[in-house]
Amino acid sequence: MSITATHINYHHVCKRKLWLFCNGINMEHTSDTVYDGKLLHETSYPQRNEKHSELNIQANHQNISLFGKIDFYDARQKIIHETKRSNKVEKAHEWQVKFYLWLLKLNGIDEATATLEYPLLRQTDCVTLTTEDIAQLQTMIEEISQLKESEQCPPVINAKICKSCSYYELCYVEEV
Ligand code: SF4
Repeated sequence: MSITATHINYHHVCKRKLWLFCNGINMEHTSDTVYDGKLLHETSYPQRNEKHSELNIQANHQNISLFGKIDFYDARQKIIHETKRSNKVEKAHEWQVKFYLWLLKLNGIDEATATLEYPLLRQTDCVTLTTEDIAQLQTMIEEISQLKESEQCPPVINAKICKSCSYYELCYVEEV
């Protein structure tokens, strides 16, 4: 079994979204979203591109393969830069970068930090990884593994975020 940062992100957004994604129902134009994030980063922070590299990182935790793709990593200062095009700060973003920090730690890179950047909000948040965060990430990995194996799709959540979710029509087809 493998788990990526997308699973961690969706775990915070909606369990149903996570289950649909795990079952190969992918309506998010992920590559476009990633491209937009990279483009926004490159136009917002043009001076940065020379000293940052893309990093594909992998680790194992209890027979589960964990994968992360960090778009901008400053290896000298051990800082991850994650740019979000969102106009609101979300816990899911924070846990996504904590997951990256954990992957670095599992690969022997301690005390890395991350900056979560929201150019549209003109806001930058510093993210670190604590022992408690690692325990929470381990619990998340267990919960995601269980959900991946479940045959039961979780119910719709009737939340405000549903309106902007790519699965909206799928979830509310009878009501559209
Ligand atoms: S539309 Fe709502 S219930 Fe459906 S997957 Fe998205 S967030 Fe979850």
